[in-house]
Amino acid sequence: MLYDFGVLQKEITQWEKEAGHRAESIGESVCGRPLYGLWMGSGRETAVILAGFHGMEWITSAVLMDYARDCLRVPPPVRVLLVPMANPDGVEISLHGAQTAGAYAPQVRKISPDPTRWQANARGVDLNHNFPAGWETLRKMEIRAGILGPSPTRYGGEWPGSEPETQAVMRAIIDSGCHRVLALHSQGEEIYDDVGVGMQPPGTRARAQKMAKSSGYTLKPQPQGLASLGGCKDWVQMALHKQAFTVEMGKGQNPLPFQQKQDIETHMVPLFADFLQPEPVAPNEKL
Ligand SMILES: [Zn+2]
Repeated sequence: MLYDFGVLQKEITQWEKEAGHRAESIGESVCGRPLYGLWMGSGRETAVILAGFHGMEWITSAVLMDYARDCLRVPPPVRVLLVPMANPDGVEISLHGAQTAGAYAPQVRKISPDPTRWQANARGVDLNHNFPAGWETLRKMEIRAGILGPSPTRYGGEWPGSEPETQAVMRAIIDSGCHRVLALHSQGEEIYDDVGVGMQPPGTRARAQKMAKSSGYTLKPQPQGLASLGGCKDWVQMALHKQAFTVEMGKGQNPLPFQQKQDIETHMVPLFADFLQPEPVAPNEKL
C-alpha cells in the first residue's frame, strides 16, 4: 500500500461526509494540486498540524489523516487545522515518477535519475529549506555543500518563501491565528523544539518534554548545518514567536514502509494529545 495524492483525496472525501463539512483548499502546488486544510474542534486556543512536506515522507500524511478521523469521534480540546499533504507534487514524484511533474518532468528526470528518493516540490525546491527563517545563512551552507540549484533535496529556492506551497502554508498558519504548530516528518523518532537562536517561546520546552514522555520519542537539540534553519518550525518560532515543533516519526530508511503506520500511531496518538492540550490558565486569567 502506498499513500499518494489520489488516496488522500479519497480519504478527504470520506472525512467530509463524516464531518458534515468540507475540507478547504489553503492553496495550490506548483503543478496545481490543492493543499487541503481540515478544520475541527473548538476552544479558546488554535493549533495547526502539518504533514507531507517531503516527497518520500508520505507516511506522515497517512498518519495525520487517521488522526483526522479519530478527531471526529473524540473532538480535540482546541480548534485544529490539519494540513495532511503540504507537498503533493513531491509525494507524486517519489511514488509515481517524473511524469507526474507536468511541465517540470524533464528537469525532474535530469536532476534525479531515481525519483523514489525525491523530497522537494516539482521545481526542485525543498520546502523545509524555503521558509524565511535564517534562509540566507542556510543558502550559504547549501552552496558550500555543492547544492547550487534545483535538486531532489535540500535546495532552498531562489528567495525565501519563493514556492507556492511555502506561501500557502505560511498564509494558512497566519490566518488561523494559531497558538502553536506541529510539523511532521519521517524518520528518527525524534522531537525538535528549538531553532538554536535563543527565541524559544515560553512553554515550548515543557510541552516538548511532555510530548517526548508520552510518545517515547527523544527530544533533541537543534541540528547544525543543512538540517537547521529555513523550516516551517523555524519560521513559526522566529517570525511569529509561537510554540513550534518538528517530529520525525518512525524509524528506518525513508520511505518508511506503510506497514509501520500502526506502530507509529501508538507513539503519535499520545503525542498529538499533548500537543493539543490547552496551556494552563494563569490564576489572574480566571474569571
Ligand atoms: Zn522531512
